[in-house]
Amino acid sequence: MDKKKLVSFDLDSTLVDPTYTTFVWEIGIPRLYATKYNISLSEATSRVKTEYERIGDSALEWYDIKYWFEYFKLPGRWENLLEEHRDKIRPFPEVKGVVEDLVQYYDLIVTSNAAREFVEVEIKEAGIEDYFTRIFSATSDFGQVKKTPQFYQQICNIMATKPSNAIHVGDHYEFDYVVPRSLGIKAYYLDRDGRKPKASFTVKDLREFANLIKYPKASIDSCQ
Ligand SMILES: [Mg+2]
Repeated sequence: MDKKKLVSFDLDSTLVDPTYTTFVWEIGIPRLYATKYNISLSEATSRVKTEYERIGDSALEWYDIKYWFEYFKLPGRWENLLEEHRDKIRPFPEVKGVVEDLVQYYDLIVTSNAAREFVEVEIKEAGIEDYFTRIFSATSDFGQVKKTPQFYQQICNIMATKPSNAIHVGDHYEFDYVVPRSLGIKAYYLDRDGRKPKASFTVKDLREFANLIKYPKASIDSCQ
């Protein structure tokens, strides 16, 4: 039998809605900071955000919750903060059905630029961890803050797959569509809110994506 094709999913805003990560960074950490330094939450939020901006999202530390706990000398353990707010992790409604379906025909992986600590807790809490062969974090596994061509190439190498045998979907136009396409990966842009004009490579949800990759001809015809 031929080797199964690889299907790669972005995580945040693709499989899981961003409420959880936003909450941890923008409310969870400022709350601990406010407790530690005995200041108001709004003052803590403003100081924490200033420090996030000073480091900036092109630095690896920006993504690293362990770094911020140490830097701010926050009380308690970072693991507890991630655990405490697990109830805010929500997969998009179609996700479970789509991965259950696609896993019969493809090898499924997750490729995220979030740190591994976040990726693992999100996938587990979303109840979809068993469907994925591997989980890759650009920051934790490769020391890269963005999904570069090298990031996708390394993943293909590790998965022993040619880019032409891989498919990727995600909600960032450049890092989930333009970059993987430049390597020859069949990438799709997930545009849940209809931000860009509809094109053959855009999908409005993961059900449409699944249909498009399983039945390419039928989906193209039905769009015309
Ligand atoms: Mg995303």
